[in-house]
Amino acid sequence: MHPKFQGEEALPNLKALRDLRIEAIIVSHSHQDHIGTLPVLMRRQPQARVFMTEPTSEISNVLLHNSVNVMTRQREDLGTTFYPLFTHRETDRAADRWQTCALRQPYTLAGERAPASDAESVTFEFFDAGHVLGSTGILIRAENRAIFYTGDVNFDDQTIAQAAVFPEEKIDILIIECTRGDTPVPATWSRKGEEQRLAEAIGNAFTRGGCVLIPVFALGKTQELLAMLYKLRREKILDFPIYIGGLSAKISDIYDRRAQMGRRQLPRLQLLDELRPFVLNAETIHDAQARPGRVYALSSGMMTAKTLSNIFARRIVDQPRHSVFFVGYADPESPAGVLRHALPDQQVTLDPDQPAQRVRCHIEQFQFSAHASRESLIAFAERLAPKKVVLVHGDPLAVEWMRARLASDLPDSEIIVPTPGVELEL
Ligand SMILES: [Zn+2]
Ligand SMILES: [Zn+2]
Repeated sequence: MHPKFQGEEALPNLKALRDLRIEAIIVSHSHQDHIGTLPVLMRRQPQARVFMTEPTSEISNVLLHNSVNVMTRQREDLGTTFYPLFTHRETDRAADRWQTCALRQPYTLAGERAPASDAESVTFEFFDAGHVLGSTGILIRAENRAIFYTGDVNFDDQTIAQAAVFPEEKIDILIIECTRGDTPVPATWSRKGEEQRLAEAIGNAFTRGGCVLIPVFALGKTQELLAMLYKLRREKILDFPIYIGGLSAKISDIYDRRAQMGRRQLPRLQLLDELRPFVLNAETIHDAQARPGRVYALSSGMMTAKTLSNIFARRIVDQPRHSVFFVGYADPESPAGVLRHALPDQQVTLDPDQPAQRVRCHIEQFQFSAHASRESLIAFAERLAPKKVVLVHGDPLAVEWMRARLASDLPDSEIIVPTPGVELEL
């Protein structure tokens, strides 16, 4: 689903599939842009089997039920009769049909484990993408050819997530994400250095007598940030109360329950027990004070209107003692994208239903993306040197940078920027 739009506009181009009978839907991970309209697609393609990893299914269940609640509230705000796009009951029924799959194990589209030498049927296999809990890249084998879709990927370790482990075998067609295609990594950047810079910035914000708002995705960025703050506490650098949203708490609980299963760093860290964050929700956010000396790590990451981070930002944006720190990707046109590039004293409208405000709070950017750097995406594509590379999941400038670079570095490969809604012969 498109994170920037609402209602029917946010749906993927399902019309393009109208006359097709889909055999299988293979889900890379549970971020909203990937699973947000899954029940709608399943309704229109009732025969399709649906495959994902076990953590992805647990998280998707929580996120989709949360979406139903959000859409039900928006139904009145927006006056859209399309909402909710699906119900709690339909979400339960959809989830009953999901089949969970292990990593690094080929399956047929019937959901059976495929023999290693199966050249007859179409098979797929999940690989750890190092992006968020449960995230995968997907290897599809058909007609003696191999297609690999990266999903959203990170080739470097984060604080919790370990770097992706992707296939090194011969790939004919690579479908690759381009999120950070227009963001160069500064030569001096290191995760350790960036963590130090964040710690200092939080310390300075508290010295100014204010609080810090960090808009984060409920899935992934919240848990990575909590783990970072845990390290600050453990190393006795900083210790302070932390606030998160109710949805983030539910997903952190899944991280905690699965801490010892599968690959991750800090496997003994129980985020909720160790950090004891205060939990805010759609009701309590309206009375929540901006208390000095506290960090508010609230979703949504893009500060979409009416979400916790948006409501809280509107409370502090015109006050010089408070701070807003950005730690990951935000669509340039989203409220987070607008605020992160706002100049001091500029007027911004964070919610179209509310008056514009003057930006007087302190704003800083940090680079803790859950997505691969463009340099590592290029290196991966060049190592595989596939016959075709299909560029997806990027703003136009990001896709164009990747296209130009790959076209010059891989002259024997066809570099494809697919047109939405147009069938592509692979
Ligand atoms: Zn993602
Ligand atoms: Zn995504």
